[in-house]
Amino acid sequence: MIILVINAGSSSLKFTLYDMDDNKKVLANGLIERIGIEGTSMKYSNFKGEKFQDKVDVKNAREGTKLATDFLVDSKYGVLSSLEAINGIGHRIVHGMEKISEPIRVTEKVKEVLKEGALLAPLHNPHNLVGIEACEAVLPGVPNVGVFDTAFHSTMPPRAYLYGLPYSLYTEDHIRRYGFHGTSHHYVSKIAAQIDGRPASSLRIITCHLGNGASITAIKGGKSQDTSMGLTPLEGVIMGTRSGDLDPAIVIHVMEIKNKTPKEMDNLLNKQSGVLGLSGIGSSDLRDIEEAANKGNQQCAQALDIYAYRIKKYIGAYLAALGGLDILVFTAGAGENSSTLRASVLSGLDGLGFKLDTEKNDVRSSEPRVISTPDSLYKIMVIPTNEELAIAESTEQVLKSS
Ligand code: ADP
Repeated sequence: MIILVINAGSSSLKFTLYDMDDNKKVLANGLIERIGIEGTSMKYSNFKGEKFQDKVDVKNAREGTKLATDFLVDSKYGVLSSLEAINGIGHRIVHGMEKISEPIRVTEKVKEVLKEGALLAPLHNPHNLVGIEACEAVLPGVPNVGVFDTAFHSTMPPRAYLYGLPYSLYTEDHIRRYGFHGTSHHYVSKIAAQIDGRPASSLRIITCHLGNGASITAIKGGKSQDTSMGLTPLEGVIMGTRSGDLDPAIVIHVMEIKNKTPKEMDNLLNKQSGVLGLSGIGSSDLRDIEEAANKGNQQCAQALDIYAYRIKKYIGAYLAALGGLDILVFTAGAGENSSTLRASVLSGLDGLGFKLDTEKNDVRSSEPRVISTPDSLYKIMVIPTNEELAIAESTEQVLKSS
């Protein structure tokens, strides 16, 4: 099967074309950025090593989808003789409310759920829908499948997803924990189980997805039991630019003393906080903050310490929530690449049974690997995530079973 994966954001369109029958080979991928704003550009490469990078004229997602698919059949850069070779399109979708708990073929009913989900994910769902409609226009007749970030967490029990608020806010206004990064947590936990060799149904796993956004998930028997992100991706550990957990009274207090509107407060918490806010060097990238800390910047060293400490606290909490543990997984940009961060998160946890093999931890690799010592009570793994591939696999499964 040839599957096209689309991730449509507010001003970007990411696409990857897979040949699932040829060992899930990536035939081509690309990214169109700054859609609808000045300086729109596109990067594209194919499996033959041919690359394109330049400014492009794309005003909206539909034009972006058209350009992407034109490239796939282009005489110079193309990898398909005709777009009819595409068997299905998998879309990354952020919010499925409580209505969608697995990857699903997109119908009018599914689109209605996406629109409802826009109430809770106003920055994502509308763009995801535009991406789907663009594909319907440009590739008519090709089935679209939605793969939802929230779906994997639909197995959480009420004790994990309900907040201590008036119950009517849940029943009438859908205020509850939904969780995000579900595709990634699910994907890396499946690989962890494969490496471990025991069936996923018998395993307790904590997955730490530490990228620009970051979340931690407790998984038992292959099912999400709890996760750190909540109604929105703002809750949980500290992130690149998001505050993560805080006393909710701070929000009210700061709005009052700084005379901020809800929109301004939202911007402060989502875009100006996290390690960006704490480090004071104007970067949310952990590489910059690690570099500054290594050169003696104390505020950056402190920001890294806080970042790691918050992750450590979640690991402790989820160890208790799961009643024990088998595997701890690190994934995404920082989780996969920063040995310093992993060592810092696990420092002082030997007594609890986490024994990091420091040599293995320092090895740089793009392969999944175990970084704990043989006598560690829990296996510690680094597993590169691949959300695009996970979406392609889910899309293939949905199409094969329908
Ligand atoms: P996203 O969350 O946007 O999908 P990634 O998962 O690729 O992004 O994570 C990107 C982040 O990972 C960067 O902003 C940076 O903080 C972190 N990162 C990537 N490589 C390294 C590295 N070698 N050392 C430390 N942090 C890294």
